[in-house]
Amino acid sequence: MGKISGFMEYGRELPSPRPVEERLRDYLEIEGNASTGQLQQQGARCMDCGVPFCHNGCPLGNLIPDWNDLVFKDRWEEAILALHATNNFPEFTGRVCPAPCEEACVLNINDDPVTIKLIEKHIIDHAFEQGWVKPLPPALKSGKSVAIVGSGPAGLACAQQLARAGHDVTVFERADRIGGLLRYGIPDFKMEKHLIDRRMEQMRAEGVEFKPGVAVGEDLPVERLTKDFDAAVLCVGSTESRDLSVEGRDLDGIHFAM
Ligand SMILES: Cc1cc2nc3c(=O)[nH]c(=O)nc-3n(C[C@H](O)[C@H](O)[C@H](O)COP(=O)(O)OP(=O)(O)OC[C@H]3O[C@@H](n4cnc5c(N)ncnc54)[C@H](O)[C@@H]3O)c2cc1C
Ligand code: SF4
Repeated sequence: MGKISGFMEYGRELPSPRPVEERLRDYLEIEGNASTGQLQQQGARCMDCGVPFCHNGCPLGNLIPDWNDLVFKDRWEEAILALHATNNFPEFTGRVCPAPCEEACVLNINDDPVTIKLIEKHIIDHAFEQGWVKPLPPALKSGKSVAIVGSGPAGLACAQQLARAGHDVTVFERADRIGGLLRYGIPDFKMEKHLIDRRMEQMRAEGVEFKPGVAVGEDLPVERLTKDFDAAVLCVGSTESRDLSVEGRDLDGIHFAM
């Protein structure tokens, strides 16, 4: 645990968003950055709970108290190792995840939760700045090949894990660029797209082959997946909208998002 009395000494603090005058002139992320000192203070608020409910709240099971403590102690390189142990792309989740971990944080019972998402984003941004995020090609190749259909976050995480396990991985994507809704759904003001390109570079160096502009079932017959590859993983997302019988559904101007 960072600082035993941290949660009593410091309040939850988030950086101010970039000034409106600045934001009017661009489409870039609106969230501001915190200083190292601020982040260490926020990390110090973590109580290293005996039963850390943040773990349960996080769908990835991120090792949240561990990296909160490492940030408090200014041990950022170890923090990114702990973060990457459960999360392939913390630069995405640190920006767009709705942070159920914070809802679940024990401090949230009678105080404000730890700024888990903010700390996560800064750990990975700092790691990239320092050059700590390097390709991790496998030591041994399996000789097996896997086709992945769809390049959203699910397809990308799957591709990275399988490539690191030694398989030859090809990602097919029907859109002209890789990223799924990370690229074509989530707006730049929440997550700038160069972050996807940077990850793709790492993944290419790990052996992942990207094939955008290929709609499986149209440009490439489905049978080729089983004929040319040892396995196939379908990560195609959902473009089918779901109608709901909720109050106001019939009002004018109510449209499906997808
Ligand atoms: C406007 C918007 C904003 C959002 N904001 C947030 C947010 O702030 N936070 C958050 O957590 N989530 C957000 N989401 C939801 C999030 O983007 C999705 O939950 C996530 O992208 C799903 O990932 P996925 O990999 O399963 O699918 P997708 O990202 O949908 O990727 C599936 C990919 O498969 C491709 N594909 C489909 N069929 C084929 C085929 N036959 N051949 C080749 N390729 C194919 C598609 O083109 C697509 O690129 C948002 C979604 C939208 C639309
Ligand atoms: S629940 Fe909150 S205070 Fe407890 S370990 Fe997790 S982040 Fe820290």
